[in-house]
Amino acid sequence: MFDLDAGHREVQKAAHSVAAAVEEFADEADACTSVHPGALEALRASGLARHVVPAAFGGESETLDPLTIAVIREALMYSSAHLDSLFGMQGVGSYSLAVGGTDELRREWLPRVAALEAIAGLALTEPGVGSDLRAVTTVIESAPGGLRVTGRKSFITNGGAADFYCVLGREGDGHSMVLVPADAPGLTITRGPDLIAPHILGELEFDGVVVPEGNRLGVARRAFSLMLATLAVFRVSVAGSAVGLAQAALDEALRHVTTREQFGEPLIALGAVSQNVALSWTEIESARALTYRAAALARSDPRGRLDLSSIAKVGATEAAGRVVDRSVQIMGRFGLVRGSKIERLYRNARPLRVYEGATEVLLDSLARRLAKGAS
Ligand SMILES: Cc1cc2nc3c(=O)[nH]c(=O)nc-3n(C[C@H](O)[C@H](O)[C@H](O)COP(=O)(O)OP(=O)(O)OC[C@H]3O[C@@H](n4cnc5c(N)ncnc54)[C@H](O)[C@@H]3O)c2cc1C
Repeated sequence: MFDLDAGHREVQKAAHSVAAAVEEFADEADACTSVHPGALEALRASGLARHVVPAAFGGESETLDPLTIAVIREALMYSSAHLDSLFGMQGVGSYSLAVGGTDELRREWLPRVAALEAIAGLALTEPGVGSDLRAVTTVIESAPGGLRVTGRKSFITNGGAADFYCVLGREGDGHSMVLVPADAPGLTITRGPDLIAPHILGELEFDGVVVPEGNRLGVARRAFSLMLATLAVFRVSVAGSAVGLAQAALDEALRHVTTREQFGEPLIALGAVSQNVALSWTEIESARALTYRAAALARSDPRGRLDLSSIAKVGATEAAGRVVDRSVQIMGRFGLVRGSKIERLYRNARPLRVYEGATEVLLDSLARRLAKGAS
């Protein structure tokens, strides 16, 4: 078993207390397609967002610690997917700025990201482009006054709520990234589709938006690496979220099967039900151990450990899917009630296997790495 040290346990305690405070209105927060003020305030007051920003710009530690981030996401997701997303996206949305922005740009935005006074967004996906991000069609080009951005981005978390977006586009024969403030002239944001698990989603249209050259992130035409750097630090944090959700589903099922009786006994005494909960426990502990180990190793060399982060993401999100499905099953008809907690968990589990690298995409790249001799 992987033991957290005292520092990580302290952060975990702080995250548990925010999650506990949000628990009473988690149903309402998880139904939101805009920022839930109570969840935002609880997260802001906790100061936890400081953990996704480097210390030089108002954050907590000199370099981000994937294990700290994963442990926080596990605790937050246990109570609310909305809360988890608000926290996670502050890092996912701002990391390319943290590693690729000019000092001036970083000083302008990052302290506010750390204090949750500015909300971050990352705009990669387009209507026609999802997993194959090298195929993006949004154009970034030099123009009088700086850089011009033209194109459409789709399914963008925090779209409409964020204060800025880090945008990936094509520039000449390569990929570039720029920071576009939400109020930039020429940027139109409309509400995204309603998902089975409600989420703050926006569709972004950039109609010749011009930003200063100083808003460039990374090196012109070589900025795809910023995207990979973001994934290397944050992919494993999705595994943390999955572990938190799976634990919540098991705990919910346990409450039911230890109190409801059939055939003169609590459900948990019935063979198949006991097997089910024990198997879920086994899968959760395995996923947690793998997640913590992958996250701990990612601290010193995130890019070098991306395979293990991908393995943790696949392992934990697929396990969460199985655990929540099993939990619904052993709750019988009570697992099927609309508006129940288990229904919310069942819906919230589903997107985890699609975003930040769909399971099949990650397995495909892991298989290619194995073919090249990695293990
Ligand atoms: C809740 C939510 C929030 C999101 N937030 C953001 C955001 O903030 N910013 C952003 O830019 N995007 C965001 N996205 C978009 C997300 O990143 C994409 O959904 C994801 O990259 C997958 O792309 P796609 O949905 O277009 O699926 P596609 O690329 O069309 O793939 C569909 C399926 O095909 C299979 N597949 C695809 N490629 C391969 C392959 N190489 N090998 C094997 N199988 C493959 C997989 O099963 C995959 O699920 C979000 C999505 C969701 C659901």
